[in-house]
This record gives sequence, C-alpha cells and structure tokens, in this order.
Amino acid sequence: MQARHTLGLGPDRFQVAPLLDLLTVNFGIDVDIVEDHEMSAHIEAECFPSQLIMRIPERTWELIEQGDSRARFTFMHELGHLILQHDLSLHRESGRYEHKCYEDSEWQADQFAAEILMPVSVINNRKLFDAYDLAEFFDVSLQAASIRLQQLTKRNELQGEK
Ligand SMILES: [Zn+2]
Repeated sequence: MQARHTLGLGPDRFQVAPLLDLLTVNFGIDVDIVEDHEMSAHIEAECFPSQLIMRIPERTWELIEQGDSRARFTFMHELGHLILQHDLSLHRESGRYEHKCYEDSEWQADQFAAEILMPVSVINNRKLFDAYDLAEFFDVSLQAASIRLQQLTKRNELQGEK
C-alpha cells in the first residue's frame, strides 16, 4: 500500500501506462519500449536495477495497454526488481551456490507484483475472497488471484471470511 501511495495510486485497479512519466520524473526509472526484434522472442521484459532501466518489447507493451493481466503482472514484477534493487547481473554471473539468491529475487519480485496489484487491505475491505471476484476487481489473472488467496489464507491474513 505504501508503494501504491508513493505512486499516487488509489486502492482500486489501475492502469500501468499512465505510470511511466511518473516513474521517470519522480524516481528516475526509465522504461524503454523497444522494437520487438531487439529482444529475444521469449523475453517479455527485462530490467537493469543498478541503472534503473526497464526494457519492454512493443509486443508486451501493446498487451499492457490493452490491460492484459499477465503483461501487467510482468511489468510490476520488473518494477519490483528495480524498487527492491536486485542485482540481477551479479546473480546471472554467479556460481551455482548463489542460485538460491537468484530464486529469492524472483520470488520477491513476484511478491511485490502480487501485493501492489492486490493489496490485502482492499481484499479484506471488499471481501474479495473468491478468486474470480479478485481477478476481475484488480485485472489480474485467475492464477495470480488464486495464488494470492492461498497465500493469505495460509498466513491467516484474510479477515471475516465466511
Ligand atoms: Zn524476475
């Protein structure tokens, strides 16, 4: 919720595209939209946390503008790497014993995306305890909504369920 507040976002669903200027002006984060051929076909987006740069191919950006739930999650995952200052290049070069760190940073970026897209306080206030309701309310995938609810249930953070 603090990240949402900092980004001037309310408690509801939000569009990603209008955030770009704000990210650049207020936080020095540059989001470069590059031509599709400049990035391998299987890459949806990439980021360089030490330089505060995110690169998104046009194909992913178009999906983001259309409100595609997976693409929105991808954007927030990459933003998580930037805000949490993950040193991805270091991890990429590191040996196998460091692999767990890399996995941690992936987990943390996913967690950042899930929390900023689906704040627990809003889930509780609006009683979005059904994955379909949650997915629809926040424009996230059914899978992301299900995982979020399972996790909150496990942590006993859902209030007044049933
Ligand atoms: Zn990642």
